[in-house]
Amino acid sequence: MECRSTRDPAVEASLSEALAQGLAPDGGLYVPEEWPAFDLAALARARDLPELAARFLAPFAAGDALGVTELAAITREAFDFPLPLVPLAPELYLLELFHGPTAAFKDFGARFLAAALARLGRIATNGAARPLTILVATSGDTGGAVAAAFHRRPGFEVAILFPQGLVSPTQARQLTSFGDNVRAFAVRGSFDDCQRLVKEALRDPELRAERDLSSANSINLGRLLPQAAYYAWASLALERAHAAPASFVIPSGNLGNACACLWARRAGLPIERVVLAHNANRAIPDYLASGRYEPRASRPTLASAMDVGDPSNFERVRTLHPTLAELRGALSACSVDDDAIRSRIRAEFAEHGRIFCPHTATAAEAFARLPAAARARGPWVLVATAHPAKFPEIVAPLISRELELPPSLARLSERSTRSEALAPALSGLRAALLAR
Ligand SMILES: *Cc1c(COP(=O)(O)O)cnc(C)c1O
Repeated sequence: MECRSTRDPAVEASLSEALAQGLAPDGGLYVPEEWPAFDLAALARARDLPELAARFLAPFAAGDALGVTELAAITREAFDFPLPLVPLAPELYLLELFHGPTAAFKDFGARFLAAALARLGRIATNGAARPLTILVATSGDTGGAVAAAFHRRPGFEVAILFPQGLVSPTQARQLTSFGDNVRAFAVRGSFDDCQRLVKEALRDPELRAERDLSSANSINLGRLLPQAAYYAWASLALERAHAAPASFVIPSGNLGNACACLWARRAGLPIERVVLAHNANRAIPDYLASGRYEPRASRPTLASAMDVGDPSNFERVRTLHPTLAELRGALSACSVDDDAIRSRIRAEFAEHGRIFCPHTATAAEAFARLPAAARARGPWVLVATAHPAKFPEIVAPLISRELELPPSLARLSERSTRSEALAPALSGLRAALLAR
């Protein structure tokens, strides 16, 4: 099955080409050309997430360099951590996506992409590849997940670009503590600047002549497509338990996670409503309300991994649901400001003993704001995108207790850190990449 660009439908690529390129040559984003009709009963028989993910992705690998056997090995290697679906109330669940090495959902996509590209490198060159430089812009969690997934993998260099001073101290530590084949660039600018720099670098003829470049942002199809598998897994499990399709509330920034859920629904999985929970960066909620899309500069909030003023995957969502009316039917969105995030974190702890990260708290708040009639039509799933201990500066004071780091993060926090300062202009990034 082919993939095509969101811009020019004549720009096509196989799955493995789309993974290797990141951005399509016309500046668009790759999307699957069509959606296979899945045998849901067969999908539901998968014993675990790796098996289900391999079956879900198999139609995309048919006839591709990345064959169905490789896919099974890749999903087994990438998804080697638990995916708990924790009941909170009779028809309400928490989908904990934060049990991977960097304690955020981005481990799923980053680990899949790394395992896939490593195999593709071997297929293409019989083991003697020239190194592939992976560029990644991060508002906090992406950089760590990508760095962890590619750290010390032969044949790969990683350049992480993060906005200086705009990620949490804990996140900054994590981003800058890898070393080896991972370089961290502290960009004097916003996340949007970092994202723009990556896009410019990927299209820069001078750089492309000297380096093999790819992107590991959620613009890379290899990050998004495997994420659809956990929506498939959760929705099938809930349909078994409740004999009804599940609805999801998704903390959203660049809309990668949301897009994966919409794709799973388009592929026929039993998914009912999709609610996007945004922070004060409200381009999408405002668009749904007014019909005018007005991208803006991103605003710093407590849920910093969602500080996106112009979500890059909106292009993919629009390709899936081209008209405003269709989009309004497909999803709803709400905006949660910092005060509401704080009170939600406090209330969940005080009333239920639950500890949510600021992003997951936006989902809990968005759910609480739904009309009672909608909430009553479960099952509902709050998508938990990060472990609360990734944000101790915010969460600990609100609940007046210390948070314990998951072991993988604790190990990382013992390493020394290093970053390189960068102005938000392509010339600086180009020079830095060519210097090494
Ligand atoms: C990246 C991230 C988000 C936003 O996800 P998108 O796919 O960009 O919409 C939400 N929560 C956390 C913890 C994240 O790291």
